[in-house]
Parts: sequence; structure tokens; C-alpha cells
Amino acid sequence: MRKTLIAGNWKLNGSGESITELLKGIVAGLPETESLSVAVCPPYIYIPMVADILSDQRVMVGSQNVAAHAKGAYTGEISASMLSEFGCQYGLVGHSERRSLYNEADADVAVKFKVLSDSGIIPVLCVGETLEERDQGVTESVVSRQIQAVIDQHGIAAFAAAVIAYEPVWAIGTGRTATPEQAQDVHAAIRALLATYDKAIADTVQIVYGGSMNPGNAAELLAMSDIDGGLIGGASLNADDFLAICRAA
Ligand code: PEP
Repeated sequence: MRKTLIAGNWKLNGSGESITELLKGIVAGLPETESLSVAVCPPYIYIPMVADILSDQRVMVGSQNVAAHAKGAYTGEISASMLSEFGCQYGLVGHSERRSLYNEADADVAVKFKVLSDSGIIPVLCVGETLEERDQGVTESVVSRQIQAVIDQHGIAAFAAAVIAYEPVWAIGTGRTATPEQAQDVHAAIRALLATYDKAIADTVQIVYGGSMNPGNAAELLAMSDIDGGLIGGASLNADDFLAICRAA
């Protein structure tokens, strides 16, 4: 039985004051459900503060990115071991904004995936097609290619402790959500791809959906058999909305 994961991606948002308020609201209203894991991914600089506030809570901390290198002359970067030292349990890699705005290729994302794993952080591999790719009917091949890059570099065993986030690019921050059936189809295709390598890993890996998930659409998306949670952008910045999604899970 796969647990549900609801993770908030705060992107480049927040201040010490607003984050403290947001966390207060989330902690106060979090449902006591054993089968639910909850995480938030703050901007790097707030990770120590957030980890401190959440130290005796069941909300976990994640990063939005990681350096591909362990150490050295890489100005502005943060390594996986640094994230681990400050309590990160999850780390996003390959978010579509990283792929499109910072030119991260599949192979770069695969390297980042592994540096997180090697530091004991669960990578959340974000995959998804653009609207153009969906219209061309190549959604499954795009998503498969993005996942295959990790398998090619590190083998299927890399997914034994990892999460995949299916995030159609056209649904991120647009208010336009994939229908539950559209999302389920891609999630099932991802699981089928993994099953061609290892059925046990395919059956246990959490595959979460991201793309304008909100209190109004969460329940029907999360009811689909292969959707194991959500990666939430905009709605994770509001405690009531984030909690409503957690309750729908
Ligand atoms: C995201 O950026 O991962 C995301 C899902 O954003 P939003 O919920 O705002 O679409």
C-alpha cells in the first residue's frame, strides 16, 4: 500500500515572517492520518529556519534544487550534503522551471537525482510535457525519455527510494489542470515503464501529480489509482488551501 505524499513547492516566495505564519497554520491544522506524508520545499536560505520550526512536527523539509557537484569552485551552489546537514529529507530535481529557465537537460537532472540519493535525500524527479508536445501526441515518449535518463545513468534500483512527480508543463501555474483521466493515463504509463525493469519498484514508487492542484480538484485527482499525492505550487502558499488538499488525500 503506497502512502500519499503532499509536498509544497514554495518556489521564490516568502519572507521570514510570512513563512513562520504559514507553517503555524499548516502545523495547527494538519490531519492526523498515518497514510499521509507532508513536506514543504522552501527557498534554500529559509531551509534551516523551516527545519528548526518543524523539528518536532511531522511535516518534512525538502529542497527545490541541488548542485550537481559535491564541493568545489561552483559559486552560488548548494550541495546535497549541505541540504542533508540542515534536515532535508526530499529534494526536487528537474522541475520544469529548472529545465526551461536554466537549461537543465535530462542527463544533468539524472546527476542531481543521484547526488541527492547518495546523501540520503529522497529525490522527487519532476517530469512532464509541454502543451506542444501533448498536442503532438508525444506525452508518453517525453516522460519516458526523462525517466529513462535516470535509469540509464543509475539503473532501476535508483527508484527504490525516490518519488516521481508528473507535472504537465501546461498545467503549472496556469490554473489549467490535467483531468483525472489524463493524469491517471500518464501515471499508469510511468508505472508500466518501470515495471518493464522491476515490478516491485514499479508497484511501490510514489508517483504524484503537480499542476494547478487546488482544494477544488484535489479529491478527484487523488482518487485515481496511480496518483499517490500532489506537488503543489501556488496553493501551498496558503495554509487553508494546502490543508484542504492534505485533507482530500
Ligand atoms: C509546481 O510548480 O510544481 C506546481 C505544481 O505549481 P502550481 O501548483 O502552481 O501549478
